[in-house]
Amino acid sequence: MHRRIALTGTATLLLATSAQAFNLGGMVDAAKDAARAATLSDEEVRAYAAQMAQHTDAQHRVAPADNAYAKRLAALTANAREDGGMRLNYKVYLKPEVNAFAMADGTIRFYSGLMDMMTDDEIRYVVGHEVGHVQAGHTKRRMQTALATSAARKGAAASGSGVGALAASELGGLFEQVIRARHSQNNEREADDYALQFLSRRNHNRRAAVTALEKLDKLSGGGGSNWLSTHPSPKERADRIRTQIT
Ligand SMILES: [Zn+2]
Repeated sequence: MHRRIALTGTATLLLATSAQAFNLGGMVDAAKDAARAATLSDEEVRAYAAQMAQHTDAQHRVAPADNAYAKRLAALTANAREDGGMRLNYKVYLKPEVNAFAMADGTIRFYSGLMDMMTDDEIRYVVGHEVGHVQAGHTKRRMQTALATSAARKGAAASGSGVGALAASELGGLFEQVIRARHSQNNEREADDYALQFLSRRNHNRRAAVTALEKLDKLSGGGGSNWLSTHPSPKERADRIRTQIT
């Protein structure tokens, strides 16, 4: 339960930042927001992601470069600083939480709790899976949906008073819903397939994808870790990957 609460907090922070960033311009009305959200360029998506990452980093204890976790992550990702033209930047949050995420600007964050339970190759699988969600466009689509919805809500609130604060609290809830929503089975398969290619291209052990998912499955009894709450069905995924790589 504690872990779920931690995740919710993170998701809310991410989203609140995005909302604030979007409001910074001040002069954009709801209609313009909606139009812009529907046509977010990759560059805009990256820019919003970078702002979210900066804000989220500020909410966590980030391992300094000479910290053991940071050194380990840097070493095991030495040949994965770039993927498909996207520069990847890694940091570790010192928190006993089983979670990790990637953002559209190449931000990759691991919680120390996840690193504690995984081998280097298993961590590389998680990197590949998260990068897969970004490269397949899942992250961008979610961001577009979130911004479009926020614009709609702003429009609805604009007829009342106290628009700013009210809209922000409405947006926080909406954004949270979007981020906390599970990836679909299809998205998970796509990200897993990407992770296998990610590992293959770098001559790493693809079997680590299976063992990582089995560990997560055991840990949670099928659904308790933070990572699993957004990346579901580890058992089925492990079974599917096993048949792919043998
Ligand atoms: Zn996933």
